Amino acid sequence: MLVRSNCSCVKFSVTTDASLDLETENVICNTCGDVVTGISAFAKNSMKISGDVIKKPKRAFSFKCVACNKNSEVSFINHKACGKNCQTPSECMFKITESMRTAIEICQKNDEKRDSRTEEVNSDMP
Ligand SMILES: [Zn+2]
Ligand SMILES: [Zn+2]
Repeated sequence: MLVRSNCSCVKFSVTTDASLDLETENVICNTCGDVVTGISAFAKNSMKISGDVIKKPKRAFSFKCVACNKNSEVSFINHKACGKNCQTPSECMFKITESMRTAIEICQKNDEKRDSRTEEVNSDMP
């Protein structure tokens, strides 16, 4: 949405294309990434309604593996947490809350479902 702005990228006009960051409620300039100040609550709300918001990339579930002492994406194999980048998955240890663990497992199941569906489609090919 075009808003009046005084951020660094605005040289020849006083308006810039900006979107609402839903997490911080800040309006971010789409050109330079600056926070645009002085945006009314009304303008913010119309951004929200029209879907002119900043979409965060899908978050990967990364945690610190206590056994390997490094950050790794977590996957569950037979209900045991394993680091995808760890060399010794059988020894991996993650301090994850029970609710986070459930979220990861649900996420993983959805991915598997998507994968098997793709395989089915592919196996129909000659
Ligand atoms: Zn800008
Ligand atoms: Zn590990």
